[in-house]
Amino acid sequence: MYPIDGKLLAQEMKNEITATVSSLTDKGKNPPHLALVIVGDDGASLTYVESIKKNTKEVGILCSAYQFPASISEKELLEAIDFINQDDEVDGCIIQLPLPKHIDTKKIIQKINPKKDVDCFHPENMGKLVLGEDTFLPATPHAVMELLKRYEIETIGKNCVVVGRSNIVGKPLALLLLQNSPYADATVTICHSKTQNLQEVCAQADILLVAIGKPEFITAEYVQKDAVVIDVGIHRVEDKTTEKGYRICGDVKFNEVSKKCKAITPVPGGVGSVTMACLLKNTLKAYQQN
Ligand code: NDP
Repeated sequence: MYPIDGKLLAQEMKNEITATVSSLTDKGKNPPHLALVIVGDDGASLTYVESIKKNTKEVGILCSAYQFPASISEKELLEAIDFINQDDEVDGCIIQLPLPKHIDTKKIIQKINPKKDVDCFHPENMGKLVLGEDTFLPATPHAVMELLKRYEIETIGKNCVVVGRSNIVGKPLALLLLQNSPYADATVTICHSKTQNLQEVCAQADILLVAIGKPEFITAEYVQKDAVVIDVGIHRVEDKTTEKGYRICGDVKFNEVSKKCKAITPVPGGVGSVTMACLLKNTLKAYQQN
């Protein structure tokens, strides 16, 4: 078994982005600019936002955070997005989800200018993805595709099983694997909570891609010998044997699955590391198209 090193790829991608941004600013141009919209003070969201701020700074992308209280009305939030849409100095915009219950998330997403929608949440961009047209690629599925490409994992005609059908991971990932392109062209099966005989279906995969949101759910029985396993999941689970009292794990039971498969993404240090680099890449793309 060999580990698929996301940290290494993320660093390579960030170096490329840094070089491109430097070449722009050296010519006196403004750097790309990303706006973050944060509503409320959910701990996990704020940690993610801090990570975006740190990473944008590292590569020279400007980042502005628009933070609002959870009590903000839907109308006020729509106005704030309109303001960002109108601002020619802003290239990309991220709305940190989930939003409070009194706000219609669909309405908010539809308000983002599709040209600034670096998360690829807007229906126009999702539609382009379905049609195989050029658009922003959603960061996590994009990260998976970058890892497969970087490690020269053959996907053409392979039996790829995606576990999970969320709009941000499972569904777009399945679509990307299905694209008619040299790094996709897979035969794709999508599984979800109503799938019958999940174990059997997974055990037939040449490439098993897991985004199920359940810590260490996928055990060795779900995996064909010498399969490639991509673990998108990320969890903090209690572990009293560690100094911090917790450990980070994925949706796959790494210790047992890694003994059976050909290659696997670790958690942490796999897909998650590359996701951030893909978000930065989308911001640069938005800038170049602006
Ligand atoms: P969701 O909870 O939105 O989706 C989970 C999917 O798994 C659903 O489609 C659900 O089916 C399916 N599922 C749940 N239980 C089962 C089961 N027992 N058998 C088969 N399918 C099941 O999660 P996300 O897609 O948002 O995230 C998935 C994981 O990826 C999480 O661990 C999350 O933390 C992680 N993540 C990691 C990122 C990264 O950059 N590394 C980014 C985003 C997420 P159904 O539709 O029927 O309910």
